[in-house]
Amino acid sequence: MPASSHPTVTVLAGPTAVGKGTISTYIRDHYPEVWLSVSATTRDPRPGEQDGVHYFFVGPEAFQELVAAGDMLEWAVVHGRNSYGTIRTKVQEAVAAGRSVLLEIDLQGARQVKESMPEAKFVFLAPPSWDELVRRLIGRGTESAEEQQRRLDTAKLELAAEKEFDVTIVNDDIQRAADELVSHMGLTPHQR
Ligand code: 5GP
Repeated sequence: MPASSHPTVTVLAGPTAVGKGTISTYIRDHYPEVWLSVSATTRDPRPGEQDGVHYFFVGPEAFQELVAAGDMLEWAVVHGRNSYGTIRTKVQEAVAAGRSVLLEIDLQGARQVKESMPEAKFVFLAPPSWDELVRRLIGRGTESAEEQQRRLDTAKLELAAEKEFDVTIVNDDIQRAADELVSHMGLTPHQR
């Protein structure tokens, strides 16, 4: 552990569509002093996503091998579709090198990390309001009414998980929320 009293590993989780991905992209671009964990996933890359930078894109068999070998610190099937997981040795190496480690993962994964690494700091990213989350969730208008309802039901359950976390950050502004996150990690937010 570094000499500071801050935990080395910070877990960022929160409900679907709250903007975790946007915050971690901001951190990747603006805070190179943060070691942002690169997860393995079975989903296909989106345009612009690079293997080894945004994710390790692996097939379902390779993913299962990582799980079976005990190489995943945590893993989950997210949105009932693809598997995502954090590779244990990479996190351990970053911790050993004294880096400030950030895991941006879903709630199921956060609960697993809490079991195996209770000393980590658990940060919940919350929407500014329920109405705003609804707007972000169904705003595109591309989902059926049934799918929209399913997502809203899931979001209600996810919001109820806030009390399991050490801190809540409201994602009202990406830069402000990212700065608050790094300060919880014991780093100094950049002057602008
Ligand atoms: P996306 O496919 O949009 O990049 O991510 C979908 C969801 O997967 C997000 O909620 C993200 O937090 C979650 N996720 C990404 N990496 C991991 C991981 O390693 N473990 C878990 N449990 N969830 C992850």
